Amino acid sequence: MPSTVYFIDLRASYRENFVSKLGRLLEAAELQRVVKKRDLTAVKLHFGELGNTAFVRPVFLRKIVDCIKAAGGVPFLTDANTLYVGTRSDSPHHIATALRNGFAYPVVDAPIIIADGLRGKSETAVTINQKRFKKVYIGKEIVEANSLVSVAHFKGHELSGFGGAIKNTGMGCASRKGKLAQHSVVAPKVKAKKCVGCGDCIVRCSQKAIALVETKARISAKKCIGCGECILICPNQAIAIQWNETVPVFLEKMVEYTLGVLKGKENRAMFVNFITDVSPACDCPPFNDAPIVRNIGVVASTDPIAIDQASVDLVNQERALPDSCLKKNRLPGKDKFKAIYPDIDWPIQLDYGEKLGLGSRKYKLERI
Ligand code: SF4
Ligand code: SF4
Repeated sequence: MPSTVYFIDLRASYRENFVSKLGRLLEAAELQRVVKKRDLTAVKLHFGELGNTAFVRPVFLRKIVDCIKAAGGVPFLTDANTLYVGTRSDSPHHIATALRNGFAYPVVDAPIIIADGLRGKSETAVTINQKRFKKVYIGKEIVEANSLVSVAHFKGHELSGFGGAIKNTGMGCASRKGKLAQHSVVAPKVKAKKCVGCGDCIVRCSQKAIALVETKARISAKKCIGCGECILICPNQAIAIQWNETVPVFLEKMVEYTLGVLKGKENRAMFVNFITDVSPACDCPPFNDAPIVRNIGVVASTDPIAIDQASVDLVNQERALPDSCLKKNRLPGKDKFKAIYPDIDWPIQLDYGEKLGLGSRKYKLERI
């Protein structure tokens, strides 16, 4: 049976502004059935790396917080610390970054509680007994919460093709150990012919896993945590992943983590994807490239598979923006994410999620 995905476009008027419309979207998606009275509700979002501006605006989080409170819940904003060294790799830096990006208490009317503690080690092991993992490691505060509202910025992603509800939940809620377990297959290799020995990747690798050997970069598989930073950094595209072997495994691992996060929260989770500022890569780098398509709207659903399928479809129905990085698949109906990441078979995550019973790729789009 198809799942329902609720959708609002960005039209607004004196009669109803976009923030009010967002409230109506959550009402239609029946947030009040997900959040019960006195629930401690985790609102999982990405606060944006310092310098990135494509993350979901704080004023929209304020509305979501208001709606959770109206349903009787007690919301807190949360994310887990990052695997790589950046402006969100421990709680003090993470909270400082969130505040600098506008998520101050007076704005959002909810506290920020980092899900996996001071240094990313506060976690709960959740037993799932699946193909890739028997146990997954989730930020403790998210496991402790009664209900979950995932608020994702829908965009491209260098390891999963796109990032939406599954990425925000499966990877985003994992503790450092959990993130490492998912990335462990992603050890990139240097194409010696393309490497000019500039050293940019060496400077940016947080794990000191790259060294110059006879003027060519070489990655130590022992030290590498598979964060993927060097792939983005290299100006000559000399660093790449063994896509055929690694991407399917990585995607399945991420989906199993999503299953772990949602365990015990059956019927207690809602997913909201903002299909706005659809940048080609994730919000983790300290910048974001121009959007690939126009701003489309916001979707909400209790089905993480259906909402991501609907979000991909809505993006792919669009014509590419003239000044974006997209060189191929620019016409409506063409796969924009495949054009940016030709080696990533993004449907794997949706198929596997369906197989694990997380939701359905079939959906009905209900326009509000
Ligand atoms: S950034 Fe690229 S070209 Fe420069 S040393 Fe690293 S792999 Fe070689
Ligand atoms: S070698 Fe690349 S993928 Fe590995 S830890 Fe360093 S930056 Fe991350």
